Amino acid sequence: MQPRDLSDHVAYEAGRGIEEVARELDRDPSEFVKLASNENPHGPSPAATEAIRETASSVSSYPKAAHADLVAAIADRWAVEPAQVWLANGGDGAIDYLHRATLEPGESILVPTPGFAYYGMSARFHHGDVAEYPLSRDDDFAQDADRVLEAYDGERIVWLTSPHNPSGSTIPLSEIERLAEETADETLVVVDEAYGEFADRESAVALLEGRDGFDARDDVAVLRTFSKAYGLAGIRLGYAVVPEAWADAYTRVNTPFAASELACRAGLAAIDDDEHVDLTVETAREAREHMREAIDARVWPSEGNFVLADVGDATAVAEAMQRRGVIVRDCSSFGLPGCIRITCGTQSETELAVETLNAVLEELDLDGASAQREVPDT
Ligand SMILES: *Cc1c(COP(=O)(O)O)cnc(C)c1O
Repeated sequence: MQPRDLSDHVAYEAGRGIEEVARELDRDPSEFVKLASNENPHGPSPAATEAIRETASSVSSYPKAAHADLVAAIADRWAVEPAQVWLANGGDGAIDYLHRATLEPGESILVPTPGFAYYGMSARFHHGDVAEYPLSRDDDFAQDADRVLEAYDGERIVWLTSPHNPSGSTIPLSEIERLAEETADETLVVVDEAYGEFADRESAVALLEGRDGFDARDDVAVLRTFSKAYGLAGIRLGYAVVPEAWADAYTRVNTPFAASELACRAGLAAIDDDEHVDLTVETAREAREHMREAIDARVWPSEGNFVLADVGDATAVAEAMQRRGVIVRDCSSFGLPGCIRITCGTQSETELAVETLNAVLEELDLDGASAQREVPDT
């Protein structure tokens, strides 16, 4: 027996974990901070932690009421119908559901490069193909309808990431509307807002609901997650908001009990904890500002809870930082070999990351190893 031909499939490369790195370097985990996976430096909402504890004794039952309660709370948050909320095992699970609901075998999706690897992986699981549109470092990864339309060739789904991972750039709603308008009726534009809470932009939910002066559309959907601003990455909880016209497809494509009892109860507690989200967003804003000012390398403006920095030899820099206790993301696997992505930490973690990176850059510059890096004028 052999699995099907998986030669086009690639493994997902997650940011490296503290335990993994500590074991490899034979050091104590407490010597490391991890700023590699855009996790919440403040941890989960305390209310969510409490809810998880309280739910522990009832996990012998399938999650039904909790699922309905959380969907109702999310629907309320966006002022949409509960059926429009496609709850899933992480935002990644919602990506799968959108592909399951739309892709016929051999149909394609269009994704940004550099970009989030899971769009393409998921499409291939669903016997789909993947085409790419480029975002360019030379114009700061700017996103607009024309750039996407230039590459567009009738794909079934166009993926936008706003804020974009790993650069932090965003796309205005008016450009998303124009893109949806100029693509075929049967093309769905999905706006991945995994980092939406950190950005100074309205959600694209306005486009499917016809708010803020936009006409309502049935060809735009939005992806959201509890992994980033809510600090619940380990619980695996995310969702899509889809147009009412075809929202009922969910019942035919979802894996039964898409989100666990623990996840639903944690999500219900977290969604009401504005204080925790506000603190998280404020910390990220200060951190990305500080990193842009203080890092001795080119750092792109970011609306997410991370920044992208051009450091020359990203693999050497990431390894040297890791030896000094700061784990960041080498962006080679995103198709950006010269860059690292640094997650916004707590104030002290961010300061440590900046000091460490600057020390490493200085050391490598003395060795001539990162001579190819673009050094900023200021
Ligand atoms: C983190 C992330 C997601 C979703 O992550 P989950 O943990 O599966 O919710 C989706 N898109 C992008 C661009 C991300 O960075």
